[in-house]
Amino acid sequence: MSTASKYIFVTGGVTSSLGKGIISSSLGKLLQARGFTVTIQKFDPYINIDPGTLNPYEHGECYVTDDGAETDLDLGHYERFLNTPTTQANNITTGRIYNNVITKERKGEYLGKTVQVVPHITDEIKRNIHLLGETGKYDFVINEIGGSVGDIESLPFLEAVRQVRWELGSNNALVIHLTLIPYLAAAKELKTKPTQHSVKELLSYGIQPDILVCRTEHPLSLEIRKKLALFCNVNLNSVIEAIDAETIYDVPLLMRKEKLDERVLAKLKVVTKQEPELEQWKNFLGKLKNPSEEVNIGLVGKYVSLPDAYKSIAEAFIHAGAQNDCKVRLKWISSEEISKETVESILGGLHGVLVAPGFGERGLEGKIAAIQYVRENKIPFLGICLGMQCAVVEFARNVLELEASSTELSPKTKHPVIDMMEEQKKITTKGGTMRLGSYACKLKKGSKAYAVYGDSIIHERHRHRYEFNNKYLHQIEEAGLKAVGVNPDSDLVEIIELKDHPWFLGVQYHPELRSTVLNPHPLFVGFVDAALKNKKNDYKS
Ligand code: GLN
Repeated sequence: MSTASKYIFVTGGVTSSLGKGIISSSLGKLLQARGFTVTIQKFDPYINIDPGTLNPYEHGECYVTDDGAETDLDLGHYERFLNTPTTQANNITTGRIYNNVITKERKGEYLGKTVQVVPHITDEIKRNIHLLGETGKYDFVINEIGGSVGDIESLPFLEAVRQVRWELGSNNALVIHLTLIPYLAAAKELKTKPTQHSVKELLSYGIQPDILVCRTEHPLSLEIRKKLALFCNVNLNSVIEAIDAETIYDVPLLMRKEKLDERVLAKLKVVTKQEPELEQWKNFLGKLKNPSEEVNIGLVGKYVSLPDAYKSIAEAFIHAGAQNDCKVRLKWISSEEISKETVESILGGLHGVLVAPGFGERGLEGKIAAIQYVRENKIPFLGICLGMQCAVVEFARNVLELEASSTELSPKTKHPVIDMMEEQKKITTKGGTMRLGSYACKLKKGSKAYAVYGDSIIHERHRHRYEFNNKYLHQIEEAGLKAVGVNPDSDLVEIIELKDHPWFLGVQYHPELRSTVLNPHPLFVGFVDAALKNKKNDYKS
């Protein structure tokens, strides 16, 4: 295709949480499967510069990219579906836009001018819309506009979309509006009125959607489709049904059936003979839906009542489960419920336990009790970030019998086996002050980690302030907890592994962020395999 990118905008109407991220990712997947290069970017209307400081309870997990950007969890879907990395450029917030404009204003770049939402904020949004397209790397740039049409805070973004569309013309830019068709059980009817209203709202901003994608619990009849087409000024074949799916990974195939990709290509005047190549995707779905085994894995964390807080971990288990022909049943366990007294009744019978990442939390003692239990009972264990740190504290306390802790939780602890690095201590502001993004890690030959990765140098993403304290390295290793992965530049410990245990690994980084449908993460694949072996009693023989 030509080097100029085509721009697809995805807006949302009627309610939030309709799954713009999944629709964008699914469309991206279909275009990619036809041989096109695609990237997806998300515009978030909130004032935070990035979601790094947001409470996961409010906003779900914070997804970290290779370049160390703290981003919206939808970027995780983009990567899991497209299997290509995203960067800071893929996630822009209102806060970042204003920050850029205000920084320019302070530098005198607008000297003499009144700085206004239109044109300065909208121009900055437009500059960001074009950034990835201008690299020349992408045939399509899909832009997901966060929030719903009608929100006050989305207005500058919608004005920018209107302008870009006008400037590029209808052959180069189009708007997909994702909307809800509610079903009224009493009337036994699907209702189009909310969609009509949200399209009218979009029209009042000067945007005519080209395609409607309609979330619905029931199939859309021809009559409903005709009604939507007529009242929303879209072609009948551009009314696309998005019926509730069994799994998000079905959505690309459902969109294919509804010909969403064909409509997009036709509207953007892109001619291609290549049909989407989805064999591998279908293979994955086949395995996902027909597992021959099943394992129960406990996920011990703080935010278990909001599964979105651990989105990437849950998805990584789906990928790794399918790879192992095994359904992974996750049992979400609040660390605050675990104590020495309750641990057996909560964790007994599980085939594996994962202790989740987290920050400065109350549930620490519960995590430590959980780790002691799985260490002593030889249950496969994976500790991620805080989970690994807890494993080190547990080992120092219960094996080395030190009064140990992490200085994050007890600043005055006698034995700070987990501590902040000197350079981190000088930083006082929050946000972007952590070890963030991709770092190299060298694996020790002969370790389980090495066997799992099949490589000696790996790169994984980080998001934390505290580290394994190397002052205790010798003592801890002597007692059997080995540092089997180390950062080659800084000597920071990245992976710990317990000797004389079937599968006990802690990682300072976040493997879940790199797991995709086509590339399930080896650590999760290895962990699920270990849980399966545990289930089959292989470890006890
Ligand atoms: N709170 C710990 C730290 O900052 C761990 C962070 C995490 O689990 N992502 O080092």
